Amino acid sequence: MKYKVATLGCKVNQVETQALEAMLRSRGFSLAQEGEVPELIIINTCAVTAESGRKSRQTIRKLMGEYPEAVIAVCGCYSQLEPEQVQALGATVVHGSGDKARFAEDIIKALDEKQRISFNDAPFERRVMEELCGGAVDGRTRAMLKIQDGCVNFCTYCIIPYTRGRVRSLPPERCAAQAAALAAAGYRELVITGIEIASYGKDLGGGLCLADAIEAIAGESAGMRLRLGSLEPTVITEEFCRRLAATGKLCGHFHLSLQSGCDEILKRMNRKYDTERFWRSCELLREYFPDCALTADLIVGFPGETPEHHAETLAFIEKCGFSSMHIFPYSIRPGTKAAEMEGQLTSAEKSRRAAEASALAERMEETYLHSCVGKKLDVLFETEREGVSVGHAGNYTQVCVSEGLLHGVVKSVQIVDVLDKMLVGLII
Ligand code: SF4
Repeated sequence: MKYKVATLGCKVNQVETQALEAMLRSRGFSLAQEGEVPELIIINTCAVTAESGRKSRQTIRKLMGEYPEAVIAVCGCYSQLEPEQVQALGATVVHGSGDKARFAEDIIKALDEKQRISFNDAPFERRVMEELCGGAVDGRTRAMLKIQDGCVNFCTYCIIPYTRGRVRSLPPERCAAQAAALAAAGYRELVITGIEIASYGKDLGGGLCLADAIEAIAGESAGMRLRLGSLEPTVITEEFCRRLAATGKLCGHFHLSLQSGCDEILKRMNRKYDTERFWRSCELLREYFPDCALTADLIVGFPGETPEHHAETLAFIEKCGFSSMHIFPYSIRPGTKAAEMEGQLTSAEKSRRAAEASALAERMEETYLHSCVGKKLDVLFETEREGVSVGHAGNYTQVCVSEGLLHGVVKSVQIVDVLDKMLVGLII
């Protein structure tokens, strides 16, 4: 049976989709190729903003229109929050964000018995993390492993705690076993991900924390380098950095969840740090991982953000010197505290602030890229076109060299130039 899949949203959704695909493939399903008509469509939805919800509905409608005969199976955060809306669109199987094994079984049941199936649990009742097999989402070089689910930080703009429930973590020995299997499968890089990995271990007891999971993974990841998903700055302590650096496995790239560079706005967001604590995290990472790239998420135009607050944010991000940023104009997510706050900004003003922050982020990126010229970087090569191979260095910069047949190989590269946001190098 042929299937087609659409995944919206974050890396966790991507990992969950690929694990679901592995389950279906083991039951005889295969991905529809160009020109083949799928009998099953899977849509993994997102609800992080109102816009993500709109895109999820639009994707469901579009694929239903294109493949009117197919069984439509929908899961993810949007269908967790709004199952009735997804049912009303006409989906055959409607699940939420949990239990992918049961989702696969329900898909098979719906196909066999030609019936509609809906399953939507209460996320806060989930106590154990479902172990999903890690694997690649973008070819055969880089794999992803989900080690954590859930979040109870309740940032005022975020709906995720209501779709994912409380913190659940994969025990360190299971993280290690998964890493060993991925290393044996020949992957060269492992991305460690979750909904809020800084909270890893809080449910496991015994004082377990993210560093324990990373050490366990590092011990079983021969031939792979490790990259971390988005980090809350408060997890970055001297002890954390010391333990990570001692593994000798971590890529020199850390993505931090900043969200605002103004203390008053961070408080309104219910973030658990201020700019001083964030800055300390940057200093520690740079001390233990010299030349590392720091990247960050930022929300501009949060309710109540004045021009002065925005200016503070711009000054702070410039001080941090990020190598790349994801900048989002604040988007109202119904059901959150921020949606009810006074001081909502117009779309035009939010876009203007986002453009201003993006221009600064571009300049910082250029500066970082030029700082790499003259350095030696280890590059994992992923693609090749007309004799030019392209890959990512540990610091997540894109690097190209004029040599072929390097796919899946890590090489030490001398960086000689910057071209269109890409580093140009020579293999040493
Ligand atoms: S830390 Fe905040 S923004 Fe991130 S998932 Fe949790 S509530 Fe949402």
